[in-house]
Amino acid sequence: MGFKEGAFPLRCVYCGWIVPDGGCPCGRSTPGTGELAVPIGVRVLARAGRGPSMDRWEPGEVVAHVGPVHRVETRHGVSWCESDDMIPESPQRQALLVPGARVWALWADGRWYPGTVDGVQGPLRHVTWDDGDSMWLEAGHAVVMALDASPARVGARVLAQRWDGEHQRGTVEQRDGDRFLVAFSDGEEAWVPAGDIKADPPSPFLDVG
Ligand SMILES: [Zn+2]
Repeated sequence: MGFKEGAFPLRCVYCGWIVPDGGCPCGRSTPGTGELAVPIGVRVLARAGRGPSMDRWEPGEVVAHVGPVHRVETRHGVSWCESDDMIPESPQRQALLVPGARVWALWADGRWYPGTVDGVQGPLRHVTWDDGDSMWLEAGHAVVMALDASPARVGARVLAQRWDGEHQRGTVEQRDGDRFLVAFSDGEEAWVPAGDIKADPPSPFLDVG
């Protein structure tokens, strides 16, 4: 590990991936790049903890440190975050969020979904997510997508076409040749041909999958 004892690895401020020994996938951060703590006063997106029910991120601000742990104030109160539970705002990243840029952007449910920047107004970005939803958001609520989509596989999160032609999010449960059994987010299941499935790129914000 290239990190000081007692500190935790940082995420790349550009792509959001935790910077491992070999550097992040976007190539802009290497171990030892930047500070080992997010300074007081910096606005961040943070998650309060980890695990299957802790996948929501929300805006906040670093207000204090206790050793390597950050006190982050959000509108819901105080969270105590290790450095890899946060992604700080970055003017350098904002400069890369131009029309056409592929991004992971924070949706209203506090989760990150793949999309594309298609509008810029000062510090704001208009993002259209792959499922068709779109919204203006602060540039700090998007990171540059470093890894492209991979083929569908069991366990992948996907956008899949249903019998009614609508595209909906789901997870691949089984494969049978050129068809995949998709469990949709509303609880339905269906076999979908490979051509009607788009797998999400690998996400920097999921601990698994
Ligand atoms: Zn990176």
